[in-house]
Amino acid sequence: MAPSKTAEVIGAGLAGLTAATALAQRGWTVRLHERDSDIRAIGAGIYVWGNGLATLEALGLYEEAARGAHVGPVLESRDHRDRVVEEVPINGPGQARVLTIMRDHLINTLIGGAEKAGVDIRTGSEVTEASPDGRLILRSGETSRADVVLAADGVNSRIRRQFDVVAHRAPARQGATRLTVPRSPDFVPAQDQGKYIEYFSGRRRVLYTPSSETSLYVALVADEDDRPASRIPVDTAAWIRSFPHLEKLLSACAGVPGRWDTFQFLTLTRWSMGRLAFLGDAAHAQPPYLGQGGGCAMMSALGLADALSGSDAPVDQRLRDWEYAERPTIEHTQRWSHRLGQLNYVPDAARASLLKGCGRLPRLGASRLRAALTTPTGSGRFAGASAR
Ligand SMILES: Cc1cc2nc3c(=O)[nH]c(=O)nc-3n(C[C@H](O)[C@H](O)[C@H](O)COP(=O)(O)OP(=O)(O)OC[C@H]3O[C@@H](n4cnc5c(N)ncnc54)[C@H](O)[C@@H]3O)c2cc1C
Repeated sequence: MAPSKTAEVIGAGLAGLTAATALAQRGWTVRLHERDSDIRAIGAGIYVWGNGLATLEALGLYEEAARGAHVGPVLESRDHRDRVVEEVPINGPGQARVLTIMRDHLINTLIGGAEKAGVDIRTGSEVTEASPDGRLILRSGETSRADVVLAADGVNSRIRRQFDVVAHRAPARQGATRLTVPRSPDFVPAQDQGKYIEYFSGRRRVLYTPSSETSLYVALVADEDDRPASRIPVDTAAWIRSFPHLEKLLSACAGVPGRWDTFQFLTLTRWSMGRLAFLGDAAHAQPPYLGQGGGCAMMSALGLADALSGSDAPVDQRLRDWEYAERPTIEHTQRWSHRLGQLNYVPDAARASLLKGCGRLPRLGASRLRAALTTPTGSGRFAGASAR
């Protein structure tokens, strides 16, 4: 019997865990390196759209991931006076699917899947160098060689810095504080409690996201140089000035541990060189206005495992085929997420008309959600529509 192919995966985020599990399920011997001493997710929720859900289904992890998740009926945008200016119905027949899940639950589900598939997960294992011939050097001094090396080490990828592959990298000048508070009936009126709601006011946004029966994920989005808005712990008075109608919700954020991240937009000249490939945020980070960075990372990681396992072509050719298949949908999604970020700079009154206009153009809506409606390669059964 031929020995199984080997993969070294760098980084145990959504991209690395998905790729490692999918390859192990296809008979590969996989080692996954995570530099931290344990694999952690920040205390926030995450929107998982159809492409991410289909990936979880393909990995056999959908039921577990969806356990306790919230299924909202609609995604609403509201103006500075709390008036609905756009509604995107979701989770109904023929509509986009999306669940909101606590990040730690999603990551733990993926870790369980990786372990079950036989992935050798090494924590406290920092990779310092990787090369296109499949070689790897660890901080410990250990070296290794594999049929393929996958750098899924996030937006600030150390491995990527070794190569001249960045085509475009721009901080988005905007960021968000993410935190979780217990759900309360006092935050929004009874009829709104299960919805996903994005509130706009000037250059600030508040994202209201039930993520389990008991947890509410809150994202506070602002310009990077809006000091009061980006302060940790949250400067609740500064936020209440912009959103007086959310006083109870914002007051509940006082003193809650949160994390501020500045958004980034990144494209590469190519996603692979020889036996080395970049995936997830290391290859195609995007601002989170569509909630699709993680979904794209998972979708593309599954496609990668399929491309590597589905033919006898040399590894470098298969990696190029994978990029050719995945890149158009992902870059389309990156462009849309960037455009949606520009809404922060439109004055309140004009933004309301713009959003209302967009809501009336179904083709624009479908284009915006293209990745969410995409059937990932290798996912098999999928309940949503295909827009590829
Ligand atoms: C505010 C905000 C909200 C978001 N909301 C959503 C959302 O609702 N839905 C969605 O789909 N996406 C969302 N995203 C995007 C999503 O979080 C990312 O796209 C996704 O987490 C990227 O996963 P990744 O595995 O590529 O990278 P990461 O999650 O960054 O994982 C990289 C891993 O590699 C490890 N690592 C780094 N260097 C090394 C090394 N040298 N050796 C070993 N290990 C290493 C790190 O410790 C880390 O565990 C959001 C992003 C932000 C900032």
